[in-house]
Amino acid sequence: MSGQKQWPTQYPARRAMVVGNWKMHGDVALTRAFAAEAARQPNTRDSAEVILAPPVPFLDITRNMLSGMWSLAAQDCHWAQSGAYTGEISAEMLAEFGCGYVIVGHSERRILMGETDEYVQGKIEAALAAGLTPIMCIGETLAQHQAQETFITLASQLYHGLPSSAVQREVVIAYEPVWAIGSGLTPTPEEVQDCHDHIRTFLCTHWNAQKGESARVLYGGSVKPDNVADFLTLADVDGVLVGGASLDPTAFADIVRSAFAL
Ligand code: PEP
Repeated sequence: MSGQKQWPTQYPARRAMVVGNWKMHGDVALTRAFAAEAARQPNTRDSAEVILAPPVPFLDITRNMLSGMWSLAAQDCHWAQSGAYTGEISAEMLAEFGCGYVIVGHSERRILMGETDEYVQGKIEAALAAGLTPIMCIGETLAQHQAQETFITLASQLYHGLPSSAVQREVVIAYEPVWAIGSGLTPTPEEVQDCHDHIRTFLCTHWNAQKGESARVLYGGSVKPDNVADFLTLADVDGVLVGGASLDPTAFADIVRSAFAL
């Protein structure tokens, strides 16, 4: 696969990114297995960046075990800096724990926890204020997909979810069709490229061309070792957000190797 990807060299921020979202899975033993796998992978961050998002109780131990080889993300944050929000965690706390990134607006939170675009916007603002890079998830439901409302849904989530402060900072966008998450189904590579092109065009118009072209846009939804190259080699796909396959150290390492081989 090496050599197939044409990276836009004028936008050096666009290098391959692999994010593993463990969701509410994992334990200390899994963290150890990942640390062992990370030690076997290429350790330069120049060509690819690997990020693990374990549940909050495992952030500290994951950071210590990875000892800088891979980066750390949280799966969510609150929009307030502090306050009477029992059970919640602020972006500042995550930054203190060594997180560099935070996933925001995952469809499971939008659907199961009722998170609106307004919440997502507040969380992105909080993340940026704490020095974290938000990974903003957007994507259409199956009904929206079947009604051919994918582009309008993506544009609406971006328009209402991106705070104005984002133009000065980095926000990673993850396109995750809701119907592809955990289902084993994926859009075709052509459909993914069309959606990423649409997202990038939106960002170029909403922000400016330089900012939109240098933004990293990831694909997520049933990414596995045997299909990851189909997505990573697309012109406007800068990496992948992996759920289920990120719980298997061997499968995740295969996906990481694909990203480093680009
Ligand atoms: C996800 O939850 O963000 C995801 C992409 O999950 P999966 O890879 O299991 O489809």
